[in-house]
Amino acid sequence: RTVYVNGAYVPEEEARVSVFDRGFLFADGVYEVTSVLDGKLLDFHGHAARLERSLRELDMASPVTMDELLAIHRELVERNGVTEGMVYLQITRGAAADRDFVFPDPDKTPSTLVLFTQSKGLIDSAAARTGIRVISIDDIRWGRRDIKTVQLLYPSMGKMMAKKAGADDAWMVEDGVVTEGTSNNAYIVKGNKIITRHLGTEILHGITRAAVLKFARESQMEIEERPFTIEEAKAADEAFVTSASTFVTPVVAIDGVSLGDGTPGAVARRLREIYIDESRKAAI
Ligand code: PMP
Repeated sequence: RTVYVNGAYVPEEEARVSVFDRGFLFADGVYEVTSVLDGKLLDFHGHAARLERSLRELDMASPVTMDELLAIHRELVERNGVTEGMVYLQITRGAAADRDFVFPDPDKTPSTLVLFTQSKGLIDSAAARTGIRVISIDDIRWGRRDIKTVQLLYPSMGKMMAKKAGADDAWMVEDGVVTEGTSNNAYIVKGNKIITRHLGTEILHGITRAAVLKFARESQMEIEERPFTIEEAKAADEAFVTSASTFVTPVVAIDGVSLGDGTPGAVARRLREIYIDESRKAAI
């Protein structure tokens, strides 16, 4: 597999990043994951816009323009023959001479840019067919979850807690209400109404969330953007999650409580279909 590191396309075994890189030492970096269908990128411009916002919020600079970034995505997809899967992109504040909490001077320390691809079947997934089971866990992450940083230890621990409990994923709860999934946005459906937490600093502004809500509105579905409790979720007719790499995935149980008849709900299945059809048509 060919990966991209700071201007060069190299075999993955030859790719190198410094041990002093601030992504490695301080989790001082941001990332994006863009899905590939039919060899084309889904919602690249949405991901690029969020990346620019993440960078701006952390006072970090991109070493390349968004047009160059698009070209790099396409080149990697082409070189690695990816028809279905994703492109991972990470920008860190680079490798300063010494380990120091204070940000280095950006003129002396260029940021590090890394991209790689993963081939993976996205459309035909077991999770989409059967739905997933989630548990609820406390949300103890930092307060700027709207910035897509590489600090993913707690979400990673959350997936492990779910696994240990015999579930597939975890929904995080703060002040009595659900924020989001460990790596996805969370939704419940009650009587044809789709309910999902409003945007703010407490959750990541999912690119898939924006697309799915747009398609839902265009299909005359009713949407409420507001917080909901885990109790309300357990009493919902159905639930689902969205993310770039899993599209729309039904949730069939929360903390061991089955939703509806315990199979993927009609709204989630319909939204998954619409999302795949529409984003596939618009892929670049
Ligand atoms: N929330 C969190 C915490 C995530 O990690 C992700 C996936 N990166 C999402 C939501 C979904 O965002 P997107 O639809 O842009 O993949």
